[in-house]
Amino acid sequence: MNMQSYVNEIFETVKKRNPGESEFHQAVKEVLDSLVPVLEKHPEYVTEGVVDRIVEPERMIMFRVPWVDDNGKVQVNRGFRVQFNSAIGPYKGGLRLHPSVNGSIIKFLGFEQIFKNSLTGLPIGGGKGGSDFDPKGKSDREVMRFCQSFMSELYRHIGQFTDVPAGDIGVGGREIGYLFGQYKKLKNSYDAGVLTGKGLNYGGSLTRTEATGYGLIYFVERMLNEKGNSIKDKTVVVSGSGNVAIYAIQKAQELGAKVVACSDSAGYIYDKNGIDVEIVKRLKEVERKRIKEYLNYHKDAEYHEGSTDVWTIKCDVALPCATQNEIDESSAKTLIDNGVIAVAEGANMPSTLEATELFLENNVLFGPAKAANAGGVAVSALEMSQNSIRLSWTFEEVDEKLKQIMINIYENASAAAKEYGKEDNLVVGANIAGFKKVADAMMAHGVI
Ligand code: NDP
Repeated sequence: MNMQSYVNEIFETVKKRNPGESEFHQAVKEVLDSLVPVLEKHPEYVTEGVVDRIVEPERMIMFRVPWVDDNGKVQVNRGFRVQFNSAIGPYKGGLRLHPSVNGSIIKFLGFEQIFKNSLTGLPIGGGKGGSDFDPKGKSDREVMRFCQSFMSELYRHIGQFTDVPAGDIGVGGREIGYLFGQYKKLKNSYDAGVLTGKGLNYGGSLTRTEATGYGLIYFVERMLNEKGNSIKDKTVVVSGSGNVAIYAIQKAQELGAKVVACSDSAGYIYDKNGIDVEIVKRLKEVERKRIKEYLNYHKDAEYHEGSTDVWTIKCDVALPCATQNEIDESSAKTLIDNGVIAVAEGANMPSTLEATELFLENNVLFGPAKAANAGGVAVSALEMSQNSIRLSWTFEEVDEKLKQIMINIYENASAAAKEYGKEDNLVVGANIAGFKKVADAMMAHGVI
């Protein structure tokens, strides 16, 4: 059997079953194309329909989320949870609150989560959820009422051994607190392991807040070290100014890099003296303000409207940490023309398929999201471990485990790429290494 035709057929079925869901199609296409050499070597995956099954979620829930705003008006949002694959552990993946959320976004994120979670080496399956609720401009009380309503439906579908949500865009410590409070009330049970990203005083893990950004930089450093290089003294551009961006900036600076830019959805800041990460933290984590306000603290920095123009800044290392498809072919070309040597994805699927292809063709070191941003979910799994043993590890202990996990992810992705004749292609390597573990577990469980 011609395996390329086989995966093409599966892709056609996915498109037919999920019409108009372009982000989901994009995520599936990338994985399917990577799997061709694996299927040639392991025809048993074809016989057992592993690929046909892995592209179909085990379960997808969509629900009404009604809540009352501060003016007494009833608002209705739509909630989602996709429980994509539980072959190697309970479904695990964040909740995203953003007006752009729809079935396609949730499915692409849930699908990628299967492979990312597998790569961490920890026992977690793939899931994702969220709502088209926009937390921007909402009062704390409104966010609380929304979260309570959201959890009033979600609680019956999750559990520490079933499905463990966490944060993502628009969901940080405040939202996890409200969600956990409502879950606890409805269940009358202190199941700390049902959510991760919790506050430190009620079952959270040290290092979880920093984990995705720190993990991204540990991955970049490992990738550069392989080529006898390091992030020290490199000029870095980061997009976004949320959880992932902030801690990527902090760790990159700690390792001696100069980070000159970051952004939000309205525009970007360029600070030739290096981004003052404490100010970004204050603006975004405490005051919930726009990145433009950075100029109030650093008069000689520049603010430019238009978030994607951040990629026009000359840099050695580019770290997209905002959202999907933020680097298209033209931005990729600009980065390459400006001499970028490494790109690593803090956000999920921030590079289009064309942009990714261009980076690989031009020998830019490329860390795909599934591998490079897996530090967040890895520490979430360590939070679940600590909840189970009812103990808390120190910051240093968790950070050390995180570092080792990121190094292992690099080694495994790199080895898989080599084994299948695609040396240095970590996109293919991450997809294959993530897939094989899940596929073997699915084979062991039979056709279910
Ligand atoms: P946050 O909500 O903390 O921050 C998101 C940042 O990205 C903000 O600066 C936001 O700007 C910007 N942004 C969001 N949507 C858009 C958009 N459509 N266009 C331009 N900019 C946008 O989210 P996180 O930092 O947690 O998540 C960022 C990315 O990292 C996402 O892709 C997420 O899936 C991924 N990720 C997150 C993990 C985590 O642990 N948090 C783990 C792994 C991946 P603004 O404030 O203007 O909206």
